Amino acid sequence: TVYGLGADARHGEAIARLYAAKGRPTFNPLIAHVASADAARALAAFDADAAKLAAAFWPGPLTLVLPKKPDCPVAALALAGLDTIALRVPAHETARAMLKAFGGPVVAPSANRSGHVSPTSAAHVLADLRGRIDLILDDGPCAVGVESTIVACLGEPTLLRPGGLPRGKIERVHGRRLAMPVTGEDDEAPIAPGMLASHYAPKAKLRLDAQGPRDGEALLAFGPTPTYTGTMFNLSPDGNLIEAATNLFSHLRALDASGATSIAVMPVPDEGLGEAINDRLARAAAPKP
Ligand code: AMP
Ligand code: MG
Repeated sequence: TVYGLGADARHGEAIARLYAAKGRPTFNPLIAHVASADAARALAAFDADAAKLAAAFWPGPLTLVLPKKPDCPVAALALAGLDTIALRVPAHETARAMLKAFGGPVVAPSANRSGHVSPTSAAHVLADLRGRIDLILDDGPCAVGVESTIVACLGEPTLLRPGGLPRGKIERVHGRRLAMPVTGEDDEAPIAPGMLASHYAPKAKLRLDAQGPRDGEALLAFGPTPTYTGTMFNLSPDGNLIEAATNLFSHLRALDASGATSIAVMPVPDEGLGEAINDRLARAAAPKP
């Protein structure tokens, strides 16, 4: 498809650094790339439709969004806190050799600075990311040149993004039309409540920019840990934004799991990765439909 910026999908800090390298102002769930369908089956649950599409199109430019398995080792930041995972087995021989040698899932959004076009050669990657990444695996220009097609198999198979694998080819194997997500104002309205939402929504209410907790609130702290006897998680006691990004979704989930009904969130500076952290906190705080 295009050149991707890879990081160990199981390593939260590596993923935070990937976001920092791209300068991306939002955390979206990333696609995890694996060497084989067997490796994919270890991470996610395949229903009959998913199994059929994987058998027909992997390796290739098809990404499947599936329920993650309970023991899936992929980091919460890679999944933006969701219970679903986007998976793909690429066809590119060098990419597959790399995945096989590495032996684990690799997330890989396009290897460009945020807002720039996707790179289809090593030179494009170098022009955008020189000095911000460790190395480039140069294997010439890309054959497909557009991103993978994304289909969610969480019930009725749904086309989430058109891409390198034409819809018609998928529908011939599938035997019927792919459903389309119902789009809302921000293109993210789920087809069925909670099924395809592309961002994590905690059950608890969030109160942003809190200087401290009020009675009965749980606290999501940032910076020097305040004294508090209630439930509290700290994104980063040192005020380190990479660490805060790494902890963001796992802490929100832990606070939700603690049974908290409202969470006070201390301010996070809106610089570097803080912009993406604040974007996700604002979405998590938005009133639920
Ligand atoms: P990219 O890696 O930039 O080509 O794009 C990844 C795309 O996959 C984004 O548009 C994500 O929103 C989408 N995606 C990844 N994981 C999920 C998921 N669990 N549910 C829905 N969409 C997903
Ligand atoms: Mg991109």
